[in-house]
Amino acid sequence: MRDLIIGASAPDDGFAVVAGITTDLVRETQRRHGLSPTAAAAAGRLITGAALLGAGLKGALRISLQIAGDGPLRGLVAEAWLTDDERIGARAYAKSPQADLPLNQAGKFDVASAVGSGTLHVTKAYEEGQPYSGVVPLQSGEIAEDLAAYLLKSEQIPSVVALGVLADPTGVVAAGGAIAHVLPGADKRAVAALERRALAMPPITQLIAEGADAHALLHAFAGGAALRAHRTLDVSFSCRCTREKVETALAGLGADELRKMGRERPETEATCEFCKKIYVFTAAELAELVSLLKKA
Ligand code: ZN
Repeated sequence: MRDLIIGASAPDDGFAVVAGITTDLVRETQRRHGLSPTAAAAAGRLITGAALLGAGLKGALRISLQIAGDGPLRGLVAEAWLTDDERIGARAYAKSPQADLPLNQAGKFDVASAVGSGTLHVTKAYEEGQPYSGVVPLQSGEIAEDLAAYLLKSEQIPSVVALGVLADPTGVVAAGGAIAHVLPGADKRAVAALERRALAMPPITQLIAEGADAHALLHAFAGGAALRAHRTLDVSFSCRCTREKVETALAGLGADELRKMGRERPETEATCEFCKKIYVFTAAELAELVSLLKKA
């Protein structure tokens, strides 16, 4: 089943849905970061949520979801954006990728304990002007509920969010999610209907385990409502790092630190925290950066 995100609206019922399968995206995130099973579940849910929200970005360039928590994962970051060729690109990392916990009493990954309590910080970058930024306290640390709380409190959009990562000892088996939200101007009945649908739905992990594709998730979430305006987008792990951006980050360390690094070793490695790509700088290249700093 290939990764795919589909968006649609049910104008008669006053809501919109975006649903997607993100199995390869979550597998690639786990592979790049060597994530423990619990970390893969947490980062997998967050990057799936970012990709779903990224598919609905209107006018914004990029959405970034940052979780700061006091649990063993110490925090997670996921970003998604629409690429020039109309795909969703997404990337994520966990601050303590190897942190792991036993399954909880329900036999599921204990994402809530691994995340702990803290905040969810959402930013949206635009082509021009200031980025939008909103922060909400974490509701449960299970991530789906936290995203729903953010959408309600920060964007005033009542919504239902479901995110699921299925894994066995060999790794991620399947992943996906769906977000349904009330359309602007919809009345209280639309919100109530949305909540009833969410309660009547089987758990998303069960649908994914049964082999649901993005269409099946979309229709399960829409509960038989008439849908229109489908938007279908491919989604894949990608990174926005460049050597230039790494140089800018290195320059931020200051001339003294760069000189010290150049003296201590012939080559300095800088690793992108999102994709783990290694950028190598020779002592001569660091000296060049120092001379550019002096000119600036
Ligand atoms: Zn990168």
